[in-house]
Amino acid sequence: MSGQSQPADITFIGSGIACTATLIQLFRKLLNTEQAGNTRPEITVIEKNREFWKGIPYGSRSSVNALTITCVNDFIYEAERPAFFRWFKENQNDWETYYREHGGITAERWLKNNLPLIAKNDWETVYIPRFIFGWYIHNTIAKLHRQIEEKQLAKINLIHAEAIDARVTGNKHYEVKLEHPDKSISYIISRKLVIATGSAVVKPVDEVNAAQVTYINDIYEPSVPLNIEKVKDALTQTDWVENRNVLIIGSNASSIELLYLLEGLPQVNGLINNLVLISPSGALPYHISTETLDEHPTPSLKALQNKGSYNLKTLVDAAAADLQPAIKNGANVAYIATVIGNTLKLMEALGDDAKKEFFGIHGMRLSNMFRRSGPEYKAGSQQLADVRKVSFIKGKFIQMQTRNEGVVLRYEEVSSGTEKTYPLTFKAVINCSGSDNLDRSASPLIYNLVHKKLAAMNLSGKGFEVNEHFEAAPNLYIMGPLLGGNMNKLIHFWHLENASRLMYLAPYLANELLKD
Ligand SMILES: Cc1cc2nc3c(=O)[nH]c(=O)nc-3n(C[C@H](O)[C@H](O)[C@H](O)COP(=O)(O)OP(=O)(O)OC[C@H]3O[C@@H](n4cnc5c(N)ncnc54)[C@H](O)[C@@H]3O)c2cc1C
Repeated sequence: MSGQSQPADITFIGSGIACTATLIQLFRKLLNTEQAGNTRPEITVIEKNREFWKGIPYGSRSSVNALTITCVNDFIYEAERPAFFRWFKENQNDWETYYREHGGITAERWLKNNLPLIAKNDWETVYIPRFIFGWYIHNTIAKLHRQIEEKQLAKINLIHAEAIDARVTGNKHYEVKLEHPDKSISYIISRKLVIATGSAVVKPVDEVNAAQVTYINDIYEPSVPLNIEKVKDALTQTDWVENRNVLIIGSNASSIELLYLLEGLPQVNGLINNLVLISPSGALPYHISTETLDEHPTPSLKALQNKGSYNLKTLVDAAAADLQPAIKNGANVAYIATVIGNTLKLMEALGDDAKKEFFGIHGMRLSNMFRRSGPEYKAGSQQLADVRKVSFIKGKFIQMQTRNEGVVLRYEEVSSGTEKTYPLTFKAVINCSGSDNLDRSASPLIYNLVHKKLAAMNLSGKGFEVNEHFEAAPNLYIMGPLLGGNMNKLIHFWHLENASRLMYLAPYLANELLKD
């Protein structure tokens, strides 16, 4: 049982930006209303990583060279932009020096290209190294935390442990089971519990014979730099140059990020004979097109509208057809927004059940059609491809088979539907294939929440069903990408892997948590 004498008022599990952005809002509210004689809430934050507040993308689990997926203007939520840009300029000397010292040739190149744009405040063109945002958000919360403690407006308790289970107690509090780094177990009790554990966790691809191959299941675990070192070691220890091959399974945002990072590491990419990437699309995300188009025609949607009778399937098919010209020369963000906007307008006539299904299932299908990344990522990966280091397979992964010299890949070719063996042996395999559904999650906490029926999956399979107060059950709140696939008055997103949207939602959740 818990050693706590008093239950916490609010407990966050996970301290990435979903938690940090909410706490920043909550602290600001407490500071603004300090005269009103608040009671002093006890807030507990549980984080399994030793680093608090930055989460996976903005801290040391990512490379210092990792960039935002969108330009900085789209990345930072509008209300937060003035504070961010002020801090960014005031601290430029510090982050620039740090980046130059730690980012190698990739940093040199980024600084050369981007410092002139930063001087002109051209925020539509700059994609910032994500660690800089990590510094900003850490700095912001640390400052507010100090003020809150000085004024005794709340009591904050940080616990470095993994939450592995939860249950509802007799008096309707939540008891959370914690596993500490030394494997000891303890429990905490809280009135309100916030699950902010990030995206659904990575789906493991296969049973791998570790003696034959270096297999990396999650490139951010323990960290990208350490995993790249592991790949380098595996290649260095391989005598035959022809066998120094690396397989990447999946072509999501982390695959293109990895290619960009490798391109800037000649001491690693020089060792690679061939880097093979397999995915059903056989392609990396699109580059973001800077083309300005006078018109954004949506003929298929228009035809449905004119006809007047359509259902969810015909609407989604029409949207998919109209997206094609929007991604023809790279992803044209404005054109895509027109297609999606027109689709949502037509959706209004179909009623709530159809909308729920759209947000739970089809929205993500459409989004997958226009996965995109900034110009630096595209150029970096293209440069590796140009020196014939990268090959793309349009196929579905089946399994890896062990050979004396490594593993070989069995896959189904998309165009023919036939099973094939790729004619190379791999010494390193990196899984970038995306996440598993919550009912099969490798996270003990998420698995238990679903199977013990504390929270229900929504139609997406990757998120929990919540009401407009963020609740999956009374006083059990969800924040972050696990909100994806919901459709209610406030939360209607098919995916929430998006910093700006999380910053937008944070003040609403802070309000809910401060209610009695
Ligand atoms: C690599 C990467 C790059 C991204 N880049 C961008 C981008 O450029 N632009 C953009 O808008 N969005 C981006 N996103 C999407 C979005 O901004 C992030 O997903 C964001 O980090 C979500 O914040 P989070 O706090 O929910 O998740 P996370 O950052 O994943 O943080 C969750 C935290 O919870 C901890 N945790 C998990 N389970 C437990 C447990 N059981 N017990 C205790 N602690 C636990 C984890 O250690 C982690 O620190 C990116 C996402 C990733 C993964």
